[in-house]
Amino acid sequence: MRTSEQGRSRVRDLIAVRRDSMQQNPLLIQRWIAVLREWRAEAMQQREWREALRAEARVDWGRLEGKKHFALLPRRDVEACRTDVALQAASDSLSARSRFELQTRDCFGCGRSVEEMEWIFFQSPLWTWTEQTGRAGWVVYCPRCDNQVSFHRLRMS
Ligand SMILES: [Zn+2]
Repeated sequence: MRTSEQGRSRVRDLIAVRRDSMQQNPLLIQRWIAVLREWRAEAMQQREWREALRAEARVDWGRLEGKKHFALLPRRDVEACRTDVALQAASDSLSARSRFELQTRDCFGCGRSVEEMEWIFFQSPLWTWTEQTGRAGWVVYCPRCDNQVSFHRLRMS
């Protein structure tokens, strides 16, 4: 009697354990998927950034005539800086214009002059600085063509 009682409670325990693990596993799997997605997103960001750093040195500007949607730096990061009101307010675009105006070019997409373009203070994301690949400086941007026309670096790590 006692044995079968114990046996039954053991079976109940086992069922409870199985039910628990079945309820927990989907959560574990979801967590793993989330972690893997994060890793993948990070790896893609790192690759994109490495490509941007390489591209910085090898742009053939003569071939860009008429081109639109040209990006030197990752669009997402530039857009994050562009919409960061505090960052832009803290950066002196007038002095940047007078300092770099002669080194930049008209928009190769629409021919707009440098005075008519947006000057965006750019600062690469925090992780790039911890990896010693950070960049900060001015992006000259033509909103009509979505072209990053030039980048004037002020700091790098
Ligand atoms: Zn343009």
